[in-house]
Amino acid sequence: MSEKRHPVPQDWKENARIDAAAYDALYRRSRDDPEGFWAEQAQRIDWITPFTKVKHTSFDLHNVSIRWFEDGTTNVAMNCVDRHLPERSDRTAIIWEGDDPATSRHISYGELHEQVCRFANVLKKHGVKKGDRVTLYLPMIPEAAFAMLACARIGAVHSVVFGGFSPEALAGRIADAASDVVVTADEGLRGGRKVPLKNNVDEALEKVDGVKSVIVVTRTGAEVDMVEGRDFRYEEEAATVHADCPYAEMDAEDPLFILYTSGSTGKPKGVVHTTGGYLVHAALTHEAVFDYRDGEVYWCTADVGWVTGHSYILYGPLANGATTLMFEGVPNYPTVSRFWEVIDKHNVSIFYTAPTAIRALMAAGDAPVKKSSRKSLRLLGSVGEPINPEAWEWYHRVVGEGRCPIVDTWWQTETGGILISPLPGATDLKPGSATRPLFGVFPEIVDAAGTVLEGACEGNLVIADSWPGQARSVFGDHERFAQTYFSAYPGKYFTGDGARRDADGYYWITGRVDDVINVSGHRLGTAEIESALVAHEKVSEAAVVGYPHDLKGQGIYAYVTLMDGAHASEHLRKELVKWVREEIGPIASPDVIQFAPGLPKTRSGKIMRRILRKIAEGEFGALGDTSTLADPGVVAELVKGKPAM
Ligand code: ATP
Ligand code: MG
Repeated sequence: MSEKRHPVPQDWKENARIDAAAYDALYRRSRDDPEGFWAEQAQRIDWITPFTKVKHTSFDLHNVSIRWFEDGTTNVAMNCVDRHLPERSDRTAIIWEGDDPATSRHISYGELHEQVCRFANVLKKHGVKKGDRVTLYLPMIPEAAFAMLACARIGAVHSVVFGGFSPEALAGRIADAASDVVVTADEGLRGGRKVPLKNNVDEALEKVDGVKSVIVVTRTGAEVDMVEGRDFRYEEEAATVHADCPYAEMDAEDPLFILYTSGSTGKPKGVVHTTGGYLVHAALTHEAVFDYRDGEVYWCTADVGWVTGHSYILYGPLANGATTLMFEGVPNYPTVSRFWEVIDKHNVSIFYTAPTAIRALMAAGDAPVKKSSRKSLRLLGSVGEPINPEAWEWYHRVVGEGRCPIVDTWWQTETGGILISPLPGATDLKPGSATRPLFGVFPEIVDAAGTVLEGACEGNLVIADSWPGQARSVFGDHERFAQTYFSAYPGKYFTGDGARRDADGYYWITGRVDDVINVSGHRLGTAEIESALVAHEKVSEAAVVGYPHDLKGQGIYAYVTLMDGAHASEHLRKELVKWVREEIGPIASPDVIQFAPGLPKTRSGKIMRRILRKIAEGEFGALGDTSTLADPGVVAELVKGKPAM
């Protein structure tokens, strides 16, 4: 497919924090003197006891150990709140936009300080100590941020479970983390619909022992069952505690949080992140990638239940003293113009969302976007999946009116923060490419045998050395951590993703390695075929998997979702096959196209190809772990709609 190039706009060249020369210099320095580079970067946070050791890491399968700044001490909440108070006490830390467009709230750094302290004191009152795990099962309300920072303040380890998860999934995560305190709300509110969070906790607690206290924040005021001696109203508790709480002195390597991966590829893993290195990485990347400027309103649409919410709603922005917007609702409520209305309402400069949302909004056409002004916007971002060039161009042309660069940020729960991304003032953009590594990040592409490939090539994406935000372990199962990430290619971190590097050194994520299709000996990434399909004017979304094929080894099976108003037909099916053949080549022609009203996605919005693969293979009984599916009903629809083969 054609590779369009969008050069860095002139005003960005002149005014960005980091231009091309600065990027080159920083990258070179991070390679030639990593310890010096990171020691310097680590000064962007405040330390209680300064570190003397910078890096102490081993990727050796039998001794995986990752430690950064290990003899330093600090506190994450102090860095995200207290240290800003002298100049920013009245400055807005969090803009909260409610599900209902009539509700929003500004929380200043000063208010945030008091709220976090109170929450911390409530946790302490319930016996929470340094190192204890607290499960947070909350909607996108300010209390979610208060609770996370409260844990950080007293050295407790939070495990945020996305509010869309079922009681079953919640129970598994409470048990895995061995939490004895759970924080929830009476109900959540998303897209005008109520989510029975407290009821879900009650059901979950029938399946797991050991929870001593459930703290219930009031969101909707709904009547909920309160178990005497176990359940407590947050507001009542908060009224009885002190408005101040000292922060704990934490070792750089003390755990900050556990977070379960989204489960696209199998059973979710409880990824462990620690204190000092994580915060340095989150703060650095938030400033560099988003070119954040003091006073700007920055909006990341993720849920705090995902790592994107941790690093880029909360920790990175607040460490930088930013104003971060937290949105309770969904993109299509009350109308598909909601995102753009919120941008106008709060003067958002930087907007960071996911391809799944962009594709859905693209399917609704340009009119709902054009109703808004969006004149405050200067930068757009994407994260979570490869963004199809067609969706990229639409985002750029329609949402950003051609003036806003797009940062396509590649990273993972396990990486803690962004690793590969353009810098808006430094990197020419190519739609669909995450472009180049950030400083201090050393990606390599290896073949199946582990040979490092040079120049333009395609293979498996590994990272050759550690960076401060890297996950330290899988909670309670360090061996699984070692096996999952360090056994495939000795001495390297294996990402599980496939990638191509072009002649300019740009990285293109081709999809999960498990998703690569082998057609008559040719290895095809799912992302490229999907992007070709999405480039057709009638297609809004596509997911491609392989299935056993007598002649070719694997055949190509494409699930296609159409634009609003387009209709499935035999004619369109033929047209799409021909289209892909012309866009990529005959080798990539889909053997089967199934029109699908919806695709199975994780609750974070990623397409779950492993389930689509099972359906394509006709193995309806062996779909694997489906507990993280957003809408299990989609699966039955797909099974029903499977064409005869
Ligand atoms: P699990 O590990 O349980 O299967 P998951 O990998 O979906 O879940 P995350 O850590 O949320 O959980 O997702 C990271 C993955 O998302 C990456 O490995 C990559 O496949 C994909 N991804 C994220 N950002 C991008 C991007 N900008 N371009 C391409 N792919 C991306
Ligand atoms: Mg993963």
